[in-house]
Amino acid sequence: MAVALITGASQGIGAAIAIRLAKDGFDVAINHFPRESSREKALAVAEECRAFGVKAECFAADVSKMADCEEMAKAVKEQLGSIDALVNNAGITKDKLLARMSEDEYDEVIAVNQKSIFNMLKNVCPVMMKQKHGRIVNVASVAGLYGNPGQINYSASKAAIIGMTKTVAKEYGRKNITCNAVAPGFINTAMTEALPDEVKTKLLDAVSLKRYGEPEEIASVVSFLVSEDSSYVTGQVIEISGGLSM
Ligand code: NAP
Repeated sequence: MAVALITGASQGIGAAIAIRLAKDGFDVAINHFPRESSREKALAVAEECRAFGVKAECFAADVSKMADCEEMAKAVKEQLGSIDALVNNAGITKDKLLARMSEDEYDEVIAVNQKSIFNMLKNVCPVMMKQKHGRIVNVASVAGLYGNPGQINYSASKAAIIGMTKTVAKEYGRKNITCNAVAPGFINTAMTEALPDEVKTKLLDAVSLKRYGEPEEIASVVSFLVSEDSSYVTGQVIEISGGLSM
């Protein structure tokens, strides 16, 4: 059975991806932040995944820390046997206009959203190379493509992910490892719930479909990108934004 490791899968888009890949027949490794409340949510996601008859295990790791990622990759390999698909989904926001943003707020978002991808790639690519097969999907954002006021830290981290995706696609293509990114627009999760109503309404003006996306609508594209159906797709960024831009 193929194994998919999804970071930040205790809720939101990550949880939807884990459940969708379980439905597709993957055994799933559900990463969660090392705290009790996150573990409880991750255990509930694992339960939903097991309903599809696959294995589902939870792995605590702060993906901004290299040592945590190293330990997690080893544990997933030991407990589930391989890592065939990696979905780098974990992410945070600390929004403020540049004038008000502190250095710590900048550094924290870069560490969790961007450095985490390096940490995971360093530990999972060698596993995929040995297997001579792998599928990597990085969760970027429209903020990384177009920028967004109040998100200089987040936009920088997500733009970097796009560069990292293309670099990995070029470095590892000959090893039969594909690496693509998805760039979601405005998706109904805890991350966007916090936005003031007037901001939400204004954002929708620019969306052709005139609604927010659902986490499952990101998961369905990830499902394609980790499947054999995408065997000749690598280094691409797929925007999933209801037609925010075209
Ligand atoms: P969310 O509901 O806040 O979920 C984020 C997930 O990341 C949570 O499970 C969180 O765990 C986990 N996480 C945060 N820091 C972590 C760390 N250091 N180590 C391990 N896990 C960590 O947000 P979401 O909307 O589903 O976002 C998922 C991804 O999609 C993010 O990369 C985000 O930037 C991207 N995205 C979202 C939108 C949107 O509109 N929602 C748009 C574009 C891109 P805890 O809850 O346990 O802290």
